[in-house]
Amino acid sequence: MRDNSFIALAREFTDDLFHCSRCNYCVEMIWEERGIHHVCPTLLHHNPAPSYSGKGYLAIARALADGEEISQSALVDRLFACTTCGNCEQVCPIGLKPAQLVRALRADLVANAMAPPEVLALADRIAVTQNPSGLPRSERYRWRESTGYEPDGPSNILYLPGCSACYGMAGEAAATLRVLTKIGFALRTLSAEQDRCCGAVLFEIGHLEMARHQGRSTLDLIETSGASQIVTSSAECLEALRHHYPSRLGRESKVPVVHALELLHERLASRKLNSRWVARPSAPGTVALMDSCHLSKKSHGPLGEAGYPRIAREILASLGCRVFPDETAAAYAVCCGAAGGMPQLHPESSLRMARAKLDELVQTGAEAIVCPSPLCAGQLRQANQSIAPVYGLFEFIDTFFESTEGGA
Ligand code: SF4
Ligand code: SF4
Repeated sequence: MRDNSFIALAREFTDDLFHCSRCNYCVEMIWEERGIHHVCPTLLHHNPAPSYSGKGYLAIARALADGEEISQSALVDRLFACTTCGNCEQVCPIGLKPAQLVRALRADLVANAMAPPEVLALADRIAVTQNPSGLPRSERYRWRESTGYEPDGPSNILYLPGCSACYGMAGEAAATLRVLTKIGFALRTLSAEQDRCCGAVLFEIGHLEMARHQGRSTLDLIETSGASQIVTSSAECLEALRHHYPSRLGRESKVPVVHALELLHERLASRKLNSRWVARPSAPGTVALMDSCHLSKKSHGPLGEAGYPRIAREILASLGCRVFPDETAAAYAVCCGAAGGMPQLHPESSLRMARAKLDELVQTGAEAIVCPSPLCAGQLRQANQSIAPVYGLFEFIDTFFESTEGGA
């Protein structure tokens, strides 16, 4: 690691490096009243050594600042094992930011040619196919053909489903188009050749050069699209547009960006959505809501404070569903292992995280698991061993509820 870059980093994170009280909250906190049973998925399902925790990452950075020698392999092994979920930041009583420090240290390692091969392979896949999975770019909007959807006329609302929906949860992308159309929004999409990876995962794994390139080209695309509003299904794209681009590129989207949940909730607030949607006989009455870290934790910038866990619960409650767990638990929910490059860097640990999450949700006794983030829903579905059905939130509505009227 270059000395000058680390000194700059140490300045940015002075409080974090030198003020950790080693209270261990981020390592082993259990607080039943707040629904906190564990904190760190990496400690639980990857490596139980304290150096793989929020406290441990701060100690590593402190040691580097003090000039201690740490082998490159030990450094890379630890820093690229964090999901960057931000749960350690949720519980830290003095507001330290280990997850943000991990992202910054990763960026320094990548910039100094110390990236693990999985990071470089992921960046290569994105460069070639414009999505992290490496599936062909031409397949990005294949799901759209199945919807038969055509906007009635010109639309100023551009729907960007995101890579995780297009390639991993195509049913959620299609259901989002159908449901939003039924409640009166006319959406349009880009072509497969136009749309691209927003670079969110590259910000998380520290490949800043390429993340910035993807960010600039995404903003150019949005600004030349003629859209007056962007709607996305992806929590990661939303974070990129609302948080990473302003803070890392110094450039904001000139077009307002919302999550698809917000449009649905807006209609719910202005009209009685439950008077227009009727449950089919097979509709589950109880659901376990899987809260995405991107949409619920303060480490993810403005998204963590925008109230998405409440919005998702209000939508489901308006349809007559009992929702578990309650909103308080969302703030401290343990990550499912889908974020921070975990599936690419440590697939087995990532799968263990997802299975543990499934077990936790199944224990609520709910009949179905619902998730507003296609990334997390896809991760749970992949880990599912027929334990419980997993739906994207729009997929759930589209599957189990009928609209009693046409458009709004
Ligand atoms: S960000 Fe998440 S995975 Fe990383 S140290 Fe904090 S709690 Fe653990
Ligand atoms: S919760 Fe905060 S203060 Fe306590 S050990 Fe973790 S980082 Fe340090």
